[in-house]
Amino acid sequence: MLPGEKKTVTIESVAVGGDGVGRIDGMAVFVPQTCRGDMAEIELTRVKSGCAYGRVVQIVTPSPHRREGFCPQSTTCGGCNFAHMQYAEQLAVKRQIVTDALQRIGGFTGFEAEPTLAAPRPERYRNKMVFPLGKDAKGRIAGGFYAPGSHRLVPLTDCRQGDRAAALWLAAVVDFLNEQHISVYDEGTHRGLARRLFVRLAEGTREAMVVLTINGKSLKNAHLLVQALRSVQTDYQLKSIILNMHTEANNLLLGKTNRVLFGTDRIEDTLGGLRFSVSPHSFYQINAPQTERLYNTALDLAALSGQESVLDLYCGIGTITLFAAAHAAQVTGVEIVPQAICDARENAKQNQIQNASFICGSAESIAPQLIESGTAPDVVFLDPPRKGAEKAALDAVAHMAPQKIVYISCNPATLARDAAHLARSGYRLCRVIPADMFPNTSHIESCALLQRIEHE
Ligand code: SAH
Repeated sequence: MLPGEKKTVTIESVAVGGDGVGRIDGMAVFVPQTCRGDMAEIELTRVKSGCAYGRVVQIVTPSPHRREGFCPQSTTCGGCNFAHMQYAEQLAVKRQIVTDALQRIGGFTGFEAEPTLAAPRPERYRNKMVFPLGKDAKGRIAGGFYAPGSHRLVPLTDCRQGDRAAALWLAAVVDFLNEQHISVYDEGTHRGLARRLFVRLAEGTREAMVVLTINGKSLKNAHLLVQALRSVQTDYQLKSIILNMHTEANNLLLGKTNRVLFGTDRIEDTLGGLRFSVSPHSFYQINAPQTERLYNTALDLAALSGQESVLDLYCGIGTITLFAAAHAAQVTGVEIVPQAICDARENAKQNQIQNASFICGSAESIAPQLIESGTAPDVVFLDPPRKGAEKAALDAVAHMAPQKIVYISCNPATLARDAAHLARSGYRLCRVIPADMFPNTSHIESCALLQRIEHE
């Protein structure tokens, strides 16, 4: 097989990352934007020793799991790689991917993930939208998303993942930049001013924040931008307009310094009856209604009686910690970002929660120190980033010997690896429940329960 060759393939499964997988002469071929059951004519784009990659030339026989018309840009924009799949199929595929990871990477032979919890709202669910700014084909300033696997801008006037408010503010910013002849940032040359528009919505309170990141220190006629943004009619109350100075040539979403152009430097949200204060830099789950379900699922798995001591590693702004506080004797959150810890303490105070404390530091350095100081939690929540937990953190958790570990994961591969490590340290993997936090994309969140073997 050679790149450029055309072949016909039937898609049998969907791999981590979202590509459909079929076989040609026994070799796995990965094809984006296909469904299980599609028969497709493809062109091979890359051939390696063990597998090949292709792109669809035409769908010969469409799978019954296909759907059309979710978004006119779905084949050009890299945002929604499951847009072509019916929602029930997306859920089934996610369950399959988690099960495969647990069996193949974790070695949990025969173990099956439970059915994926559907999102209450499978579109327009994102409370955070980040639009890179650039130029359209006519050389005018535009905002949108990047094409798959590239940093080429696909201009958008709306996105079905986010609220319409975000698209309306994007249009206002784009008009302002065009009218004021303000340059847009070019990653190649590190020149140009306007980089990205970042919109955050608080569904619980209907408050909104708009952040413009710039490669510089000031924006001429910023008051006109404020005026333009504030005159847009939406279902949200625009509480905060921020200019973020981001002059470094990296891919981070935000630079370190913010200047408030209008309103406050943070917005408030409510989640599960608690109030949270969210600043531009804090991590906050992007799908509010499903986050509540995810946290409640985690709490159900922990089955707290009110007597327990709880440790929440990778706690962010303390959301899970504070959800658990009402059901436990005492909770401690650990998080590496200092600002998030400040927010977490503030959130505890705002909600009059007195049995929660927070420690700033890495899970892998703090957890061993907690052992030294005699901490012995009954339940540990772990919610690490995509790369999973460090071995030192897992070893320290196992050493503390909690009865239950509830592991929340946004990456089935590292969940499988870490669960296998804990299984070798005296824990049994009991349940894994995928929860669809990111409909129409291949991202998968899951919640796992591990129980200490001697306590069964
Ligand atoms: N549980 C929170 C946050 C989960 S995201 C929530 O649901 O909102 C993962 C968090 O881990 C982020 O806040 C990130 O800053 C933090 N983090 C990343 N590496 C870490 C480490 N080594 N130790 C502790 N926290 C870490």
